Amino acid sequence: MNKNNSIIDEEFVINTLKELVRINSVNPSLDKNGNGEEEIGLYIENILKSIQVESDFMLLSPKRVNIIGALRGSAKSKSLMINAHMDTVGVEGMHEPFSAKIKDGKLYGRGAYDMKGSIAAMLGTAKAIRDNNITLSGDVLLTFVADEEYESIGTRDIIKQYKTDAAIVTEPTDLQICIGHRGFGVFKIKTRGKIAHGGRHREGIDANTKMGLLLAEIDTFAREIPIEKTHPLCGEASLHVPLIQGGQSLFIYSGECVIKVERRTLPGEKEEDILRELRGMIDAVSKKDKDFHAELEPFIWRDPYEVSKNAEIVQTLTRSATKTMGRKPSYIGHSWWEDSALIGNAGIDTVIIGPRGGGIHQQIEWVDIQSVVDLSGILYETIIEYCGN
Ligand SMILES: [Zn+2]
Repeated sequence: MNKNNSIIDEEFVINTLKELVRINSVNPSLDKNGNGEEEIGLYIENILKSIQVESDFMLLSPKRVNIIGALRGSAKSKSLMINAHMDTVGVEGMHEPFSAKIKDGKLYGRGAYDMKGSIAAMLGTAKAIRDNNITLSGDVLLTFVADEEYESIGTRDIIKQYKTDAAIVTEPTDLQICIGHRGFGVFKIKTRGKIAHGGRHREGIDANTKMGLLLAEIDTFAREIPIEKTHPLCGEASLHVPLIQGGQSLFIYSGECVIKVERRTLPGEKEEDILRELRGMIDAVSKKDKDFHAELEPFIWRDPYEVSKNAEIVQTLTRSATKTMGRKPSYIGHSWWEDSALIGNAGIDTVIIGPRGGGIHQQIEWVDIQSVVDLSGILYETIIEYCGN
């Protein structure tokens, strides 16, 4: 039972969700045929206008936009940002990715769970604030952003321009409260060999077999790391090598071999820690083999994130979720990275809550419709407690 069903306009939320899923907003950096966020952004802006919420349309680059909705408070008390990304991953292999079909309380389609359900919930919350003539004393910013699935140009732009007292990122959590997530780093390592004719073994040094020595070292480390580095909510740290490229041709000693190493990090781990860890593996091989030469450089870095359970926004959200759902939600951590790290590390306490569903980044994606309505109610209660009079 959800006591907010009377406050949240359920029909509006469901219709909005259907329309959002019908609009292609595939990230064009992931798929060159992707539509980007302009069309879905215009749709969201129109909804905001229709429910009397001030809005801003910000063009970041062609097809890439942020939409900001603002519910202004009457005084300068605590402000809150609620963030959702509008882009989705691609639709390859999906059957009717934009159909928004409903079956057994589930709505299907690309982005339904990640994270158009959350966008519909946020718009439902804003409408409920207006419908019930709620006056706020602190500002509420609804940020609908571009590009979370690639380089997060949307949220990076938001944190340059806006500073609120707290933030909620509405990535899917199955209505549990996520207070931390892993980060990741990608590093490039190159071994150098000595190019020579395949028949002249005394002249050549094979960069590929030298890389093999390092790969064995990485493999040992990759087995140890989930045992040695763990976090109560985010699980284990991990390490693997998703890409390898080496050699010129048959019958030539390889002059160069390059790998990309992916390290998933736990809250508290920093880029320099991981560089030191990888340098340690390189040094260990160098000690054993005088012909081993490797260069290490950082390639991509995304911080891990963690917020205290005692942070005011976490406690407020816990009370709102308990009140709306009639039971206390549990605290969880995510194993993947999210925009919350950018907002949180800009000095804004950030917590994550989103709907129930399945098939994230997979071929059959769906969101549980009731959980979208519940999320809308939880956000409504949170805004009233955190930013109300
Ligand atoms: Zn997402």
